[in-house]
Formats: sequence, C-alpha cells, structure tokens
Amino acid sequence: MADGQPVADCLFCKIVAGEIPATVVRETENTFAFKDINPQAPIHDLVVPRAHYADAAELAAHSPELTAALLVEAGEVAKAEGIADDGYRIVFNTGAHAGQTVFHVHAHVLGGDFLAHFGS
Ligand code: C5P
Repeated sequence: MADGQPVADCLFCKIVAGEIPATVVRETENTFAFKDINPQAPIHDLVVPRAHYADAAELAAHSPELTAALLVEAGEVAKAEGIADDGYRIVFNTGAHAGQTVFHVHAHVLGGDFLAHFGS
C-alpha cells in the first residue's frame, strides 16, 4: 500500500533529498522541479511530488490534493521557464508500455518550440 514514504532505491527520492545532484527549477513544500538530464525539447523539466508514489494513477488514488498541487506546479514551472504563453505539454508516462522508466511519478513539462503532434 503506497503511503508516500521515501523509497531507498528510488532515483527521484534521492534527487528530492539532495543525494543526487539536479538542476533545480523550482521548489515548493510538496513538490520539486528540475531539468530533465536528457531533454526532448528546448525546455524539458520534470515536476515530482516530494512524497513517493509510483505513477500518476497511484498518486491520484491516494492524494487528489497532491495531484492537483503537482498540476498547479507544472503550470508555475511553465511560467518560470517563459513558455506558458506560447503553450507547452504536460506528460505523465504511466507504466512500461508508455515508456515510464522511473517509478516515482513525474510530470514532464515540455515546450519552447512547436512540438511534434501525435494522435488524431
Ligand atoms: O517518463 P520516464 O520515466 O521515461 O521519464 C524519466 C525521465 O527522467 C527521463 O526523461 C530521463 O531523461 C530523466 N532523468 C533525469 N535525471 C536522471 C535520470 C533520468 O532527468 N538522473
């Protein structure tokens, strides 16, 4: 049962704790935003809750308030990066088939140029 407690071998828990370096974009009481180490767009940041939940579905099931805070913070990150007016993408890869590789929920905030369109 997920309870938000830090997980010893979790990369993003270690980044939140300052045990692994990251380029910090913004910090709040409950969230932590940093530059993606392998950017897929001119601006590519990750926003994570300090609490550990594996993915967006688990986070939403356990804490609607923290889910909302994460989305609000994604918008604040976009403003801080100067991409809010032109538009940006928020992505939650959820599970292996979606390409999730780090199982500490994170919002990708992507922007800074026209992004490739996918879907219909
Ligand atoms: O959605 P997914 O789990 O694939 O995203 C994980 C992201 O974490 C990747 O975009 C990867 O570049 C990023 N990452 C990072 N810093 C690390 C390890 C991974 O920004 N030290």
